[in-house]
Amino acid sequence: MKIQNERLKKDLIIFDAHCDTANVLLDPQLSFIKREQSHVDMEKIKEGGLNAQIFALWVNPAYSPYQAIKKALLLYHILEKKVFLPGYGIKVTTTIEMGSVLRKNRLACWLSLEGGHIIENSIEILEFFYSLGIRSMTLTHSKNTDWADSSGESPRWDGLNSLGRKIVARMEELGMVIDVSHASDKTVEDVFDMTSVPLMASHSNARALCDIPRNLPDDLIKEITGRKGFIGVNFFPVFLKKNIFDQASKNVEKYKNEYQNIIQVNKKNPDLINKAEWDLFRKYVRGTDKIDVNAVIDHIVHIADIGGIDCVGLGSDFDGINSTPSDLIDVSCYPTLVEGLTLRGFTAKEIRKIMGLNLFHFLKQFDR
Ligand SMILES: [Zn+2]
Repeated sequence: MKIQNERLKKDLIIFDAHCDTANVLLDPQLSFIKREQSHVDMEKIKEGGLNAQIFALWVNPAYSPYQAIKKALLLYHILEKKVFLPGYGIKVTTTIEMGSVLRKNRLACWLSLEGGHIIENSIEILEFFYSLGIRSMTLTHSKNTDWADSSGESPRWDGLNSLGRKIVARMEELGMVIDVSHASDKTVEDVFDMTSVPLMASHSNARALCDIPRNLPDDLIKEITGRKGFIGVNFFPVFLKKNIFDQASKNVEKYKNEYQNIIQVNKKNPDLINKAEWDLFRKYVRGTDKIDVNAVIDHIVHIADIGGIDCVGLGSDFDGINSTPSDLIDVSCYPTLVEGLTLRGFTAKEIRKIMGLNLFHFLKQFDR
């Protein structure tokens, strides 16, 4: 499918705030240039019109505390080897650099750390990653860190502890984007109380439409957007519809014992734990209801209703999710989303904002 509306196509930038493609590319067989089974590769990027992407260096918390930095560096290395190639992706750290990459018709690649555990409780390591060109970090993944609570577990610190406050303060000083996706509500509130910078939730949905802790309640959406923040809508059906989340949770119950055994046996081998979790994750979505692009648009509409049209955009989570809406199966499908937004009554100007300009303007606030 191609974007039909020529006028809309003209200044459209498609810019997504979160993908896990670096992890997929660790597979030595997989190329970024050729068409592959992954969600994001150059062939599909050309088809769908993607211009810019934030690539997450996601490290499974199982690698913490001793192997997380190594894993993040391997992910960085794989992007250098497979994505940042002449004629393809170019790493950027400011919107000025991004502008010049777009003028060359290349893919602008931003980098983020997914999971505060990666810095192994060290502000120096945080600074080191910043010096590598990484411009954002989610405070947690699905497990609590030694300094911040995640939405995926019961609270350990009641938000941020004193080390967490120091790390967040340093991020603010550096001009590193504080990404609150995955964090618990209380962690987000603590970040609000102690900082004055705009915050990003790179790949989070609205709890009002899908009532799970991983999604944002309306009051936090209001706070984030009230401070010129950004929220990228996640395409994972489990985070879009509560009935799908419930079906998936039932599947997890079925495999829980099997999975616990693997964890127990492989305690010291994060690679095997990581693989077992991916396998479980695949089984997790088996037989769940099918949905289409409108489920994504529902969340965009809701977040725009609560926070205004300038705060919402894309946080696909491509290559980090193993099921998608049936007509939004990879980056080649972005024209379907544009079409869907048009049918739902968004104007060309609003669609440009949602598809990329909002994220661009959000990041512009951090240019140094
Ligand atoms: Zn994530």
